[in-house]
Amino acid sequence: MQTAEIHDRFLRYFERRDHTIVPSASLVSDDPTIMFTIAGMVPFIPYLTGQEPAPYARAADVQKCIRTNDIEEVGRTPRHGTFFQMTGNWSFGDYFKRGAIQYAWEFLTGPEDDGNLGFSPDDLWVTVFETDDEAVALWKEIAGLPEERIQRLGRDTNYWSTGQPGPAGPCSEIFFDRGPAYGIDGGPATDDDRYVEIWNLVFMQDQIADVRSKTEFRIVGDLPARNIDTGMGLERIAFLKQGVENMYEIDQVRPVLDLASELSGRAYGADHEDDVRMRVVADHVRSSLMLLSDGVTPGNEGRGYILRRLMRRAIRAMRLLGVHEPTFPTLFAASRDAMQSAYPELATEWSRLSRFAFAEEETFLKTLEAGSTVLDAALETTKGDGRVQLAGDTAFLLHDTYGFPIDLTLEIAEEQGLTVDRSAFDRLMGEQRSRAKADAKAKRGALADRSVYGEFRAVGETTFLGYEELEADGQVV
Ligand code: ATP
Ligand code: MG
Ligand code: MG
Ligand code: MG
Repeated sequence: MQTAEIHDRFLRYFERRDHTIVPSASLVSDDPTIMFTIAGMVPFIPYLTGQEPAPYARAADVQKCIRTNDIEEVGRTPRHGTFFQMTGNWSFGDYFKRGAIQYAWEFLTGPEDDGNLGFSPDDLWVTVFETDDEAVALWKEIAGLPEERIQRLGRDTNYWSTGQPGPAGPCSEIFFDRGPAYGIDGGPATDDDRYVEIWNLVFMQDQIADVRSKTEFRIVGDLPARNIDTGMGLERIAFLKQGVENMYEIDQVRPVLDLASELSGRAYGADHEDDVRMRVVADHVRSSLMLLSDGVTPGNEGRGYILRRLMRRAIRAMRLLGVHEPTFPTLFAASRDAMQSAYPELATEWSRLSRFAFAEEETFLKTLEAGSTVLDAALETTKGDGRVQLAGDTAFLLHDTYGFPIDLTLEIAEEQGLTVDRSAFDRLMGEQRSRAKADAKAKRGALADRSVYGEFRAVGETTFLGYEELEADGQVV
């Protein structure tokens, strides 16, 4: 089942059940405190909080998302992309827990030839919030799930809030069990790659106050209008339905991965680290393409900086695969071809998008070249002086001034039989990080004041954290 097919089935299923189909919002929110759309709920925030009346009682959509805080997982877990599509169904004061559970279960397990996904009920598990007896009873009644496949979990995973006083509520998540070949038999609570979370149902029913952290708050009352917010990962469903190992092997992503393999002459599946690099390339090329198409351009701060880092990480991964020549012209074209049926603007906007991508690659390849010259000279001097360790401040200078990644410095030094004074490098990075954090804090304070959704700072902060981390320690390249 192609990704486009799952996308269409989802929307048709909910359209037949009186949901208004809403187009995806941009990856770039109007709110300056929100870096990117990180979940399907972001464009619905004003309706969910009751700030604005919802123009419909039920809606469904497939929302483009970017999550930079998942970047370290990319290629290493089967299920985390920096770009992905979250399908959602929404009820604003209309159906509640029963409706949400009923729809999700029927769409997942109903017969394929009737427009559903046809998963076997035996492969599915659910989690509920520890005190949500109502949800437990509904899962038993509607899905016929036995007690042992309904796990009760706490506030850290199964309670949704904005991190601010206001609307909140328990979640129930649906997981697919990939079987004993992928890990131990303990259900989603074991938290390994055997159980893949596919759908999160949020039941907004509580009013919370005295919020001290994600798990420390008081439930002070019921919401006057209860809402449903759900999010299902399109790529996760696609990889499970397509019988492949992970989301980088689905029809919308795999062509780029294959091209990375072809260009590097390294077979996919032969070496774990190479496989991770190919998956990183496939993921980051797609995220970059989608960000460019939503109007982000590479730059040194904010959203543009994230885009730049994603592209540079892809270039770096290709280099580690042994390719030193430009590859974006073919990689981006392959990603466009795989994505354009869902997003036709990729084809119509191609000349603009590709110009930015190709220029970025050219510049970074030059950076790498310039850095290599400086590094080679430093390595010669080190050896000439009879030392075996490259000075930390040289590694830092390369990183800071030339944008030359530390892992590249380490690798090249190692090839020449030298080590790098890593502790000195880390100390200098730590000092720089503190400066960057202080800067970011000052900036965020200023931005938060302008926020239209003051109480939704949590959403912004989640995204900002990813950004700060990326910027501060330069881990990305
Ligand atoms: P996980 O625990 O696997 O990281 P999550 O709990 O962070 O997922 P939610 O915030 O509940 O995810 O998002 C709703 C759904 O979106 C998830 O159930 C999953 O199917 C999908 N999803 C979330 N993050 C990603 C991602 N980085 N890549 C692909 N799909 C994702
Ligand atoms: Mg997550
Ligand atoms: Mg989760
Ligand atoms: Mg979740």
